[in-house]
Amino acid sequence: MSEFRYCKLNDCEVIFAPKRLKRPESFISEVSYADDVNQCPFEKGREEYTPKEIDRMEDDQGWRCRVVPNLFNALGIEDDFTSQKDGFFEKRGGFGAHEVVIETPDHRKQMFDFSKEDFVYYLTLLQRRCRSLKKDKRLHYISIFKNSGQQAGASLIHSHSQIMATGKVPAEIEKKIDFKRQYYKRHARALMDDLIYDEKKSVKRIVEENDCFIAYCPYASQFAFETMVVNKKGYSCLEQMDFSDLHSLGEMLHSLFKRYREVLGEFAFNMLFFTAPINDGENDSRRIYRFFIRIVPRLYNIAGFELSTGVYINAVLPEEAAKQLRGD
Ligand SMILES: [Zn+2]
Repeated sequence: MSEFRYCKLNDCEVIFAPKRLKRPESFISEVSYADDVNQCPFEKGREEYTPKEIDRMEDDQGWRCRVVPNLFNALGIEDDFTSQKDGFFEKRGGFGAHEVVIETPDHRKQMFDFSKEDFVYYLTLLQRRCRSLKKDKRLHYISIFKNSGQQAGASLIHSHSQIMATGKVPAEIEKKIDFKRQYYKRHARALMDDLIYDEKKSVKRIVEENDCFIAYCPYASQFAFETMVVNKKGYSCLEQMDFSDLHSLGEMLHSLFKRYREVLGEFAFNMLFFTAPINDGENDSRRIYRFFIRIVPRLYNIAGFELSTGVYINAVLPEEAAKQLRGD
């Protein structure tokens, strides 16, 4: 019944074990917060409770989404980045940017409720932040991620994402880029482009496709009902997209979250943006790397086996997840 699958994109293995679904309470249902709208720092009219705003998108009703520095920042743009020997060990200053994107003025509105327009505002703001952060030549990688629900690491219910930009490409990302570089050397094609070609041919894991993007459940999904949203135009980052591309992406996310709600209800999830490193000079990452978004439902906890081996156990085959999301 169980099987190992090899993930060609990330060079890792996943165990599919449908029996795991039969455990008591194997899916965690959504999320209760200690939640008080009157204390929420992300409310319209309470802007003074956040640090000084960095950027915003607005319509004639006021702001639609805004970016502020993270009050509980893990990295600081004023910190230095020099590396120091500490005996055998080594450390560096915590240089980097850490920002919060408040995605909506509406306290209760989650991505499951977002309109197409909400997504386009949000994506346009993310793109503007990437373009702006890139101007700081000390920065080399931008990580955009969203934790939604306690199970996914969120501490506030008001819908928000985070941007962290670092002076060094994280080792894990570097490893994945190297892997893609090796592939490019052998095949003279980007790994992701070949992967999409094969996914399209086999059809069964595809959820949806539009002019610029394709959403599918990866062959070796680490998490149940995980989806990838990848672009078909060879973009390696958000900055390369024009308005019509951002519109297609907004349309895709809007449709995908509607499908998710129909199948699973509302649930905790992480949404992760993967982009090529920035300010990497003559480096070839734009040629070998593709921008994509990974949506990871947090329907159950990862536990000791995953932490100790890096091998994930997933109870739902991606073919089954895709079928349900398509509504077949
Ligand atoms: Zn709020």
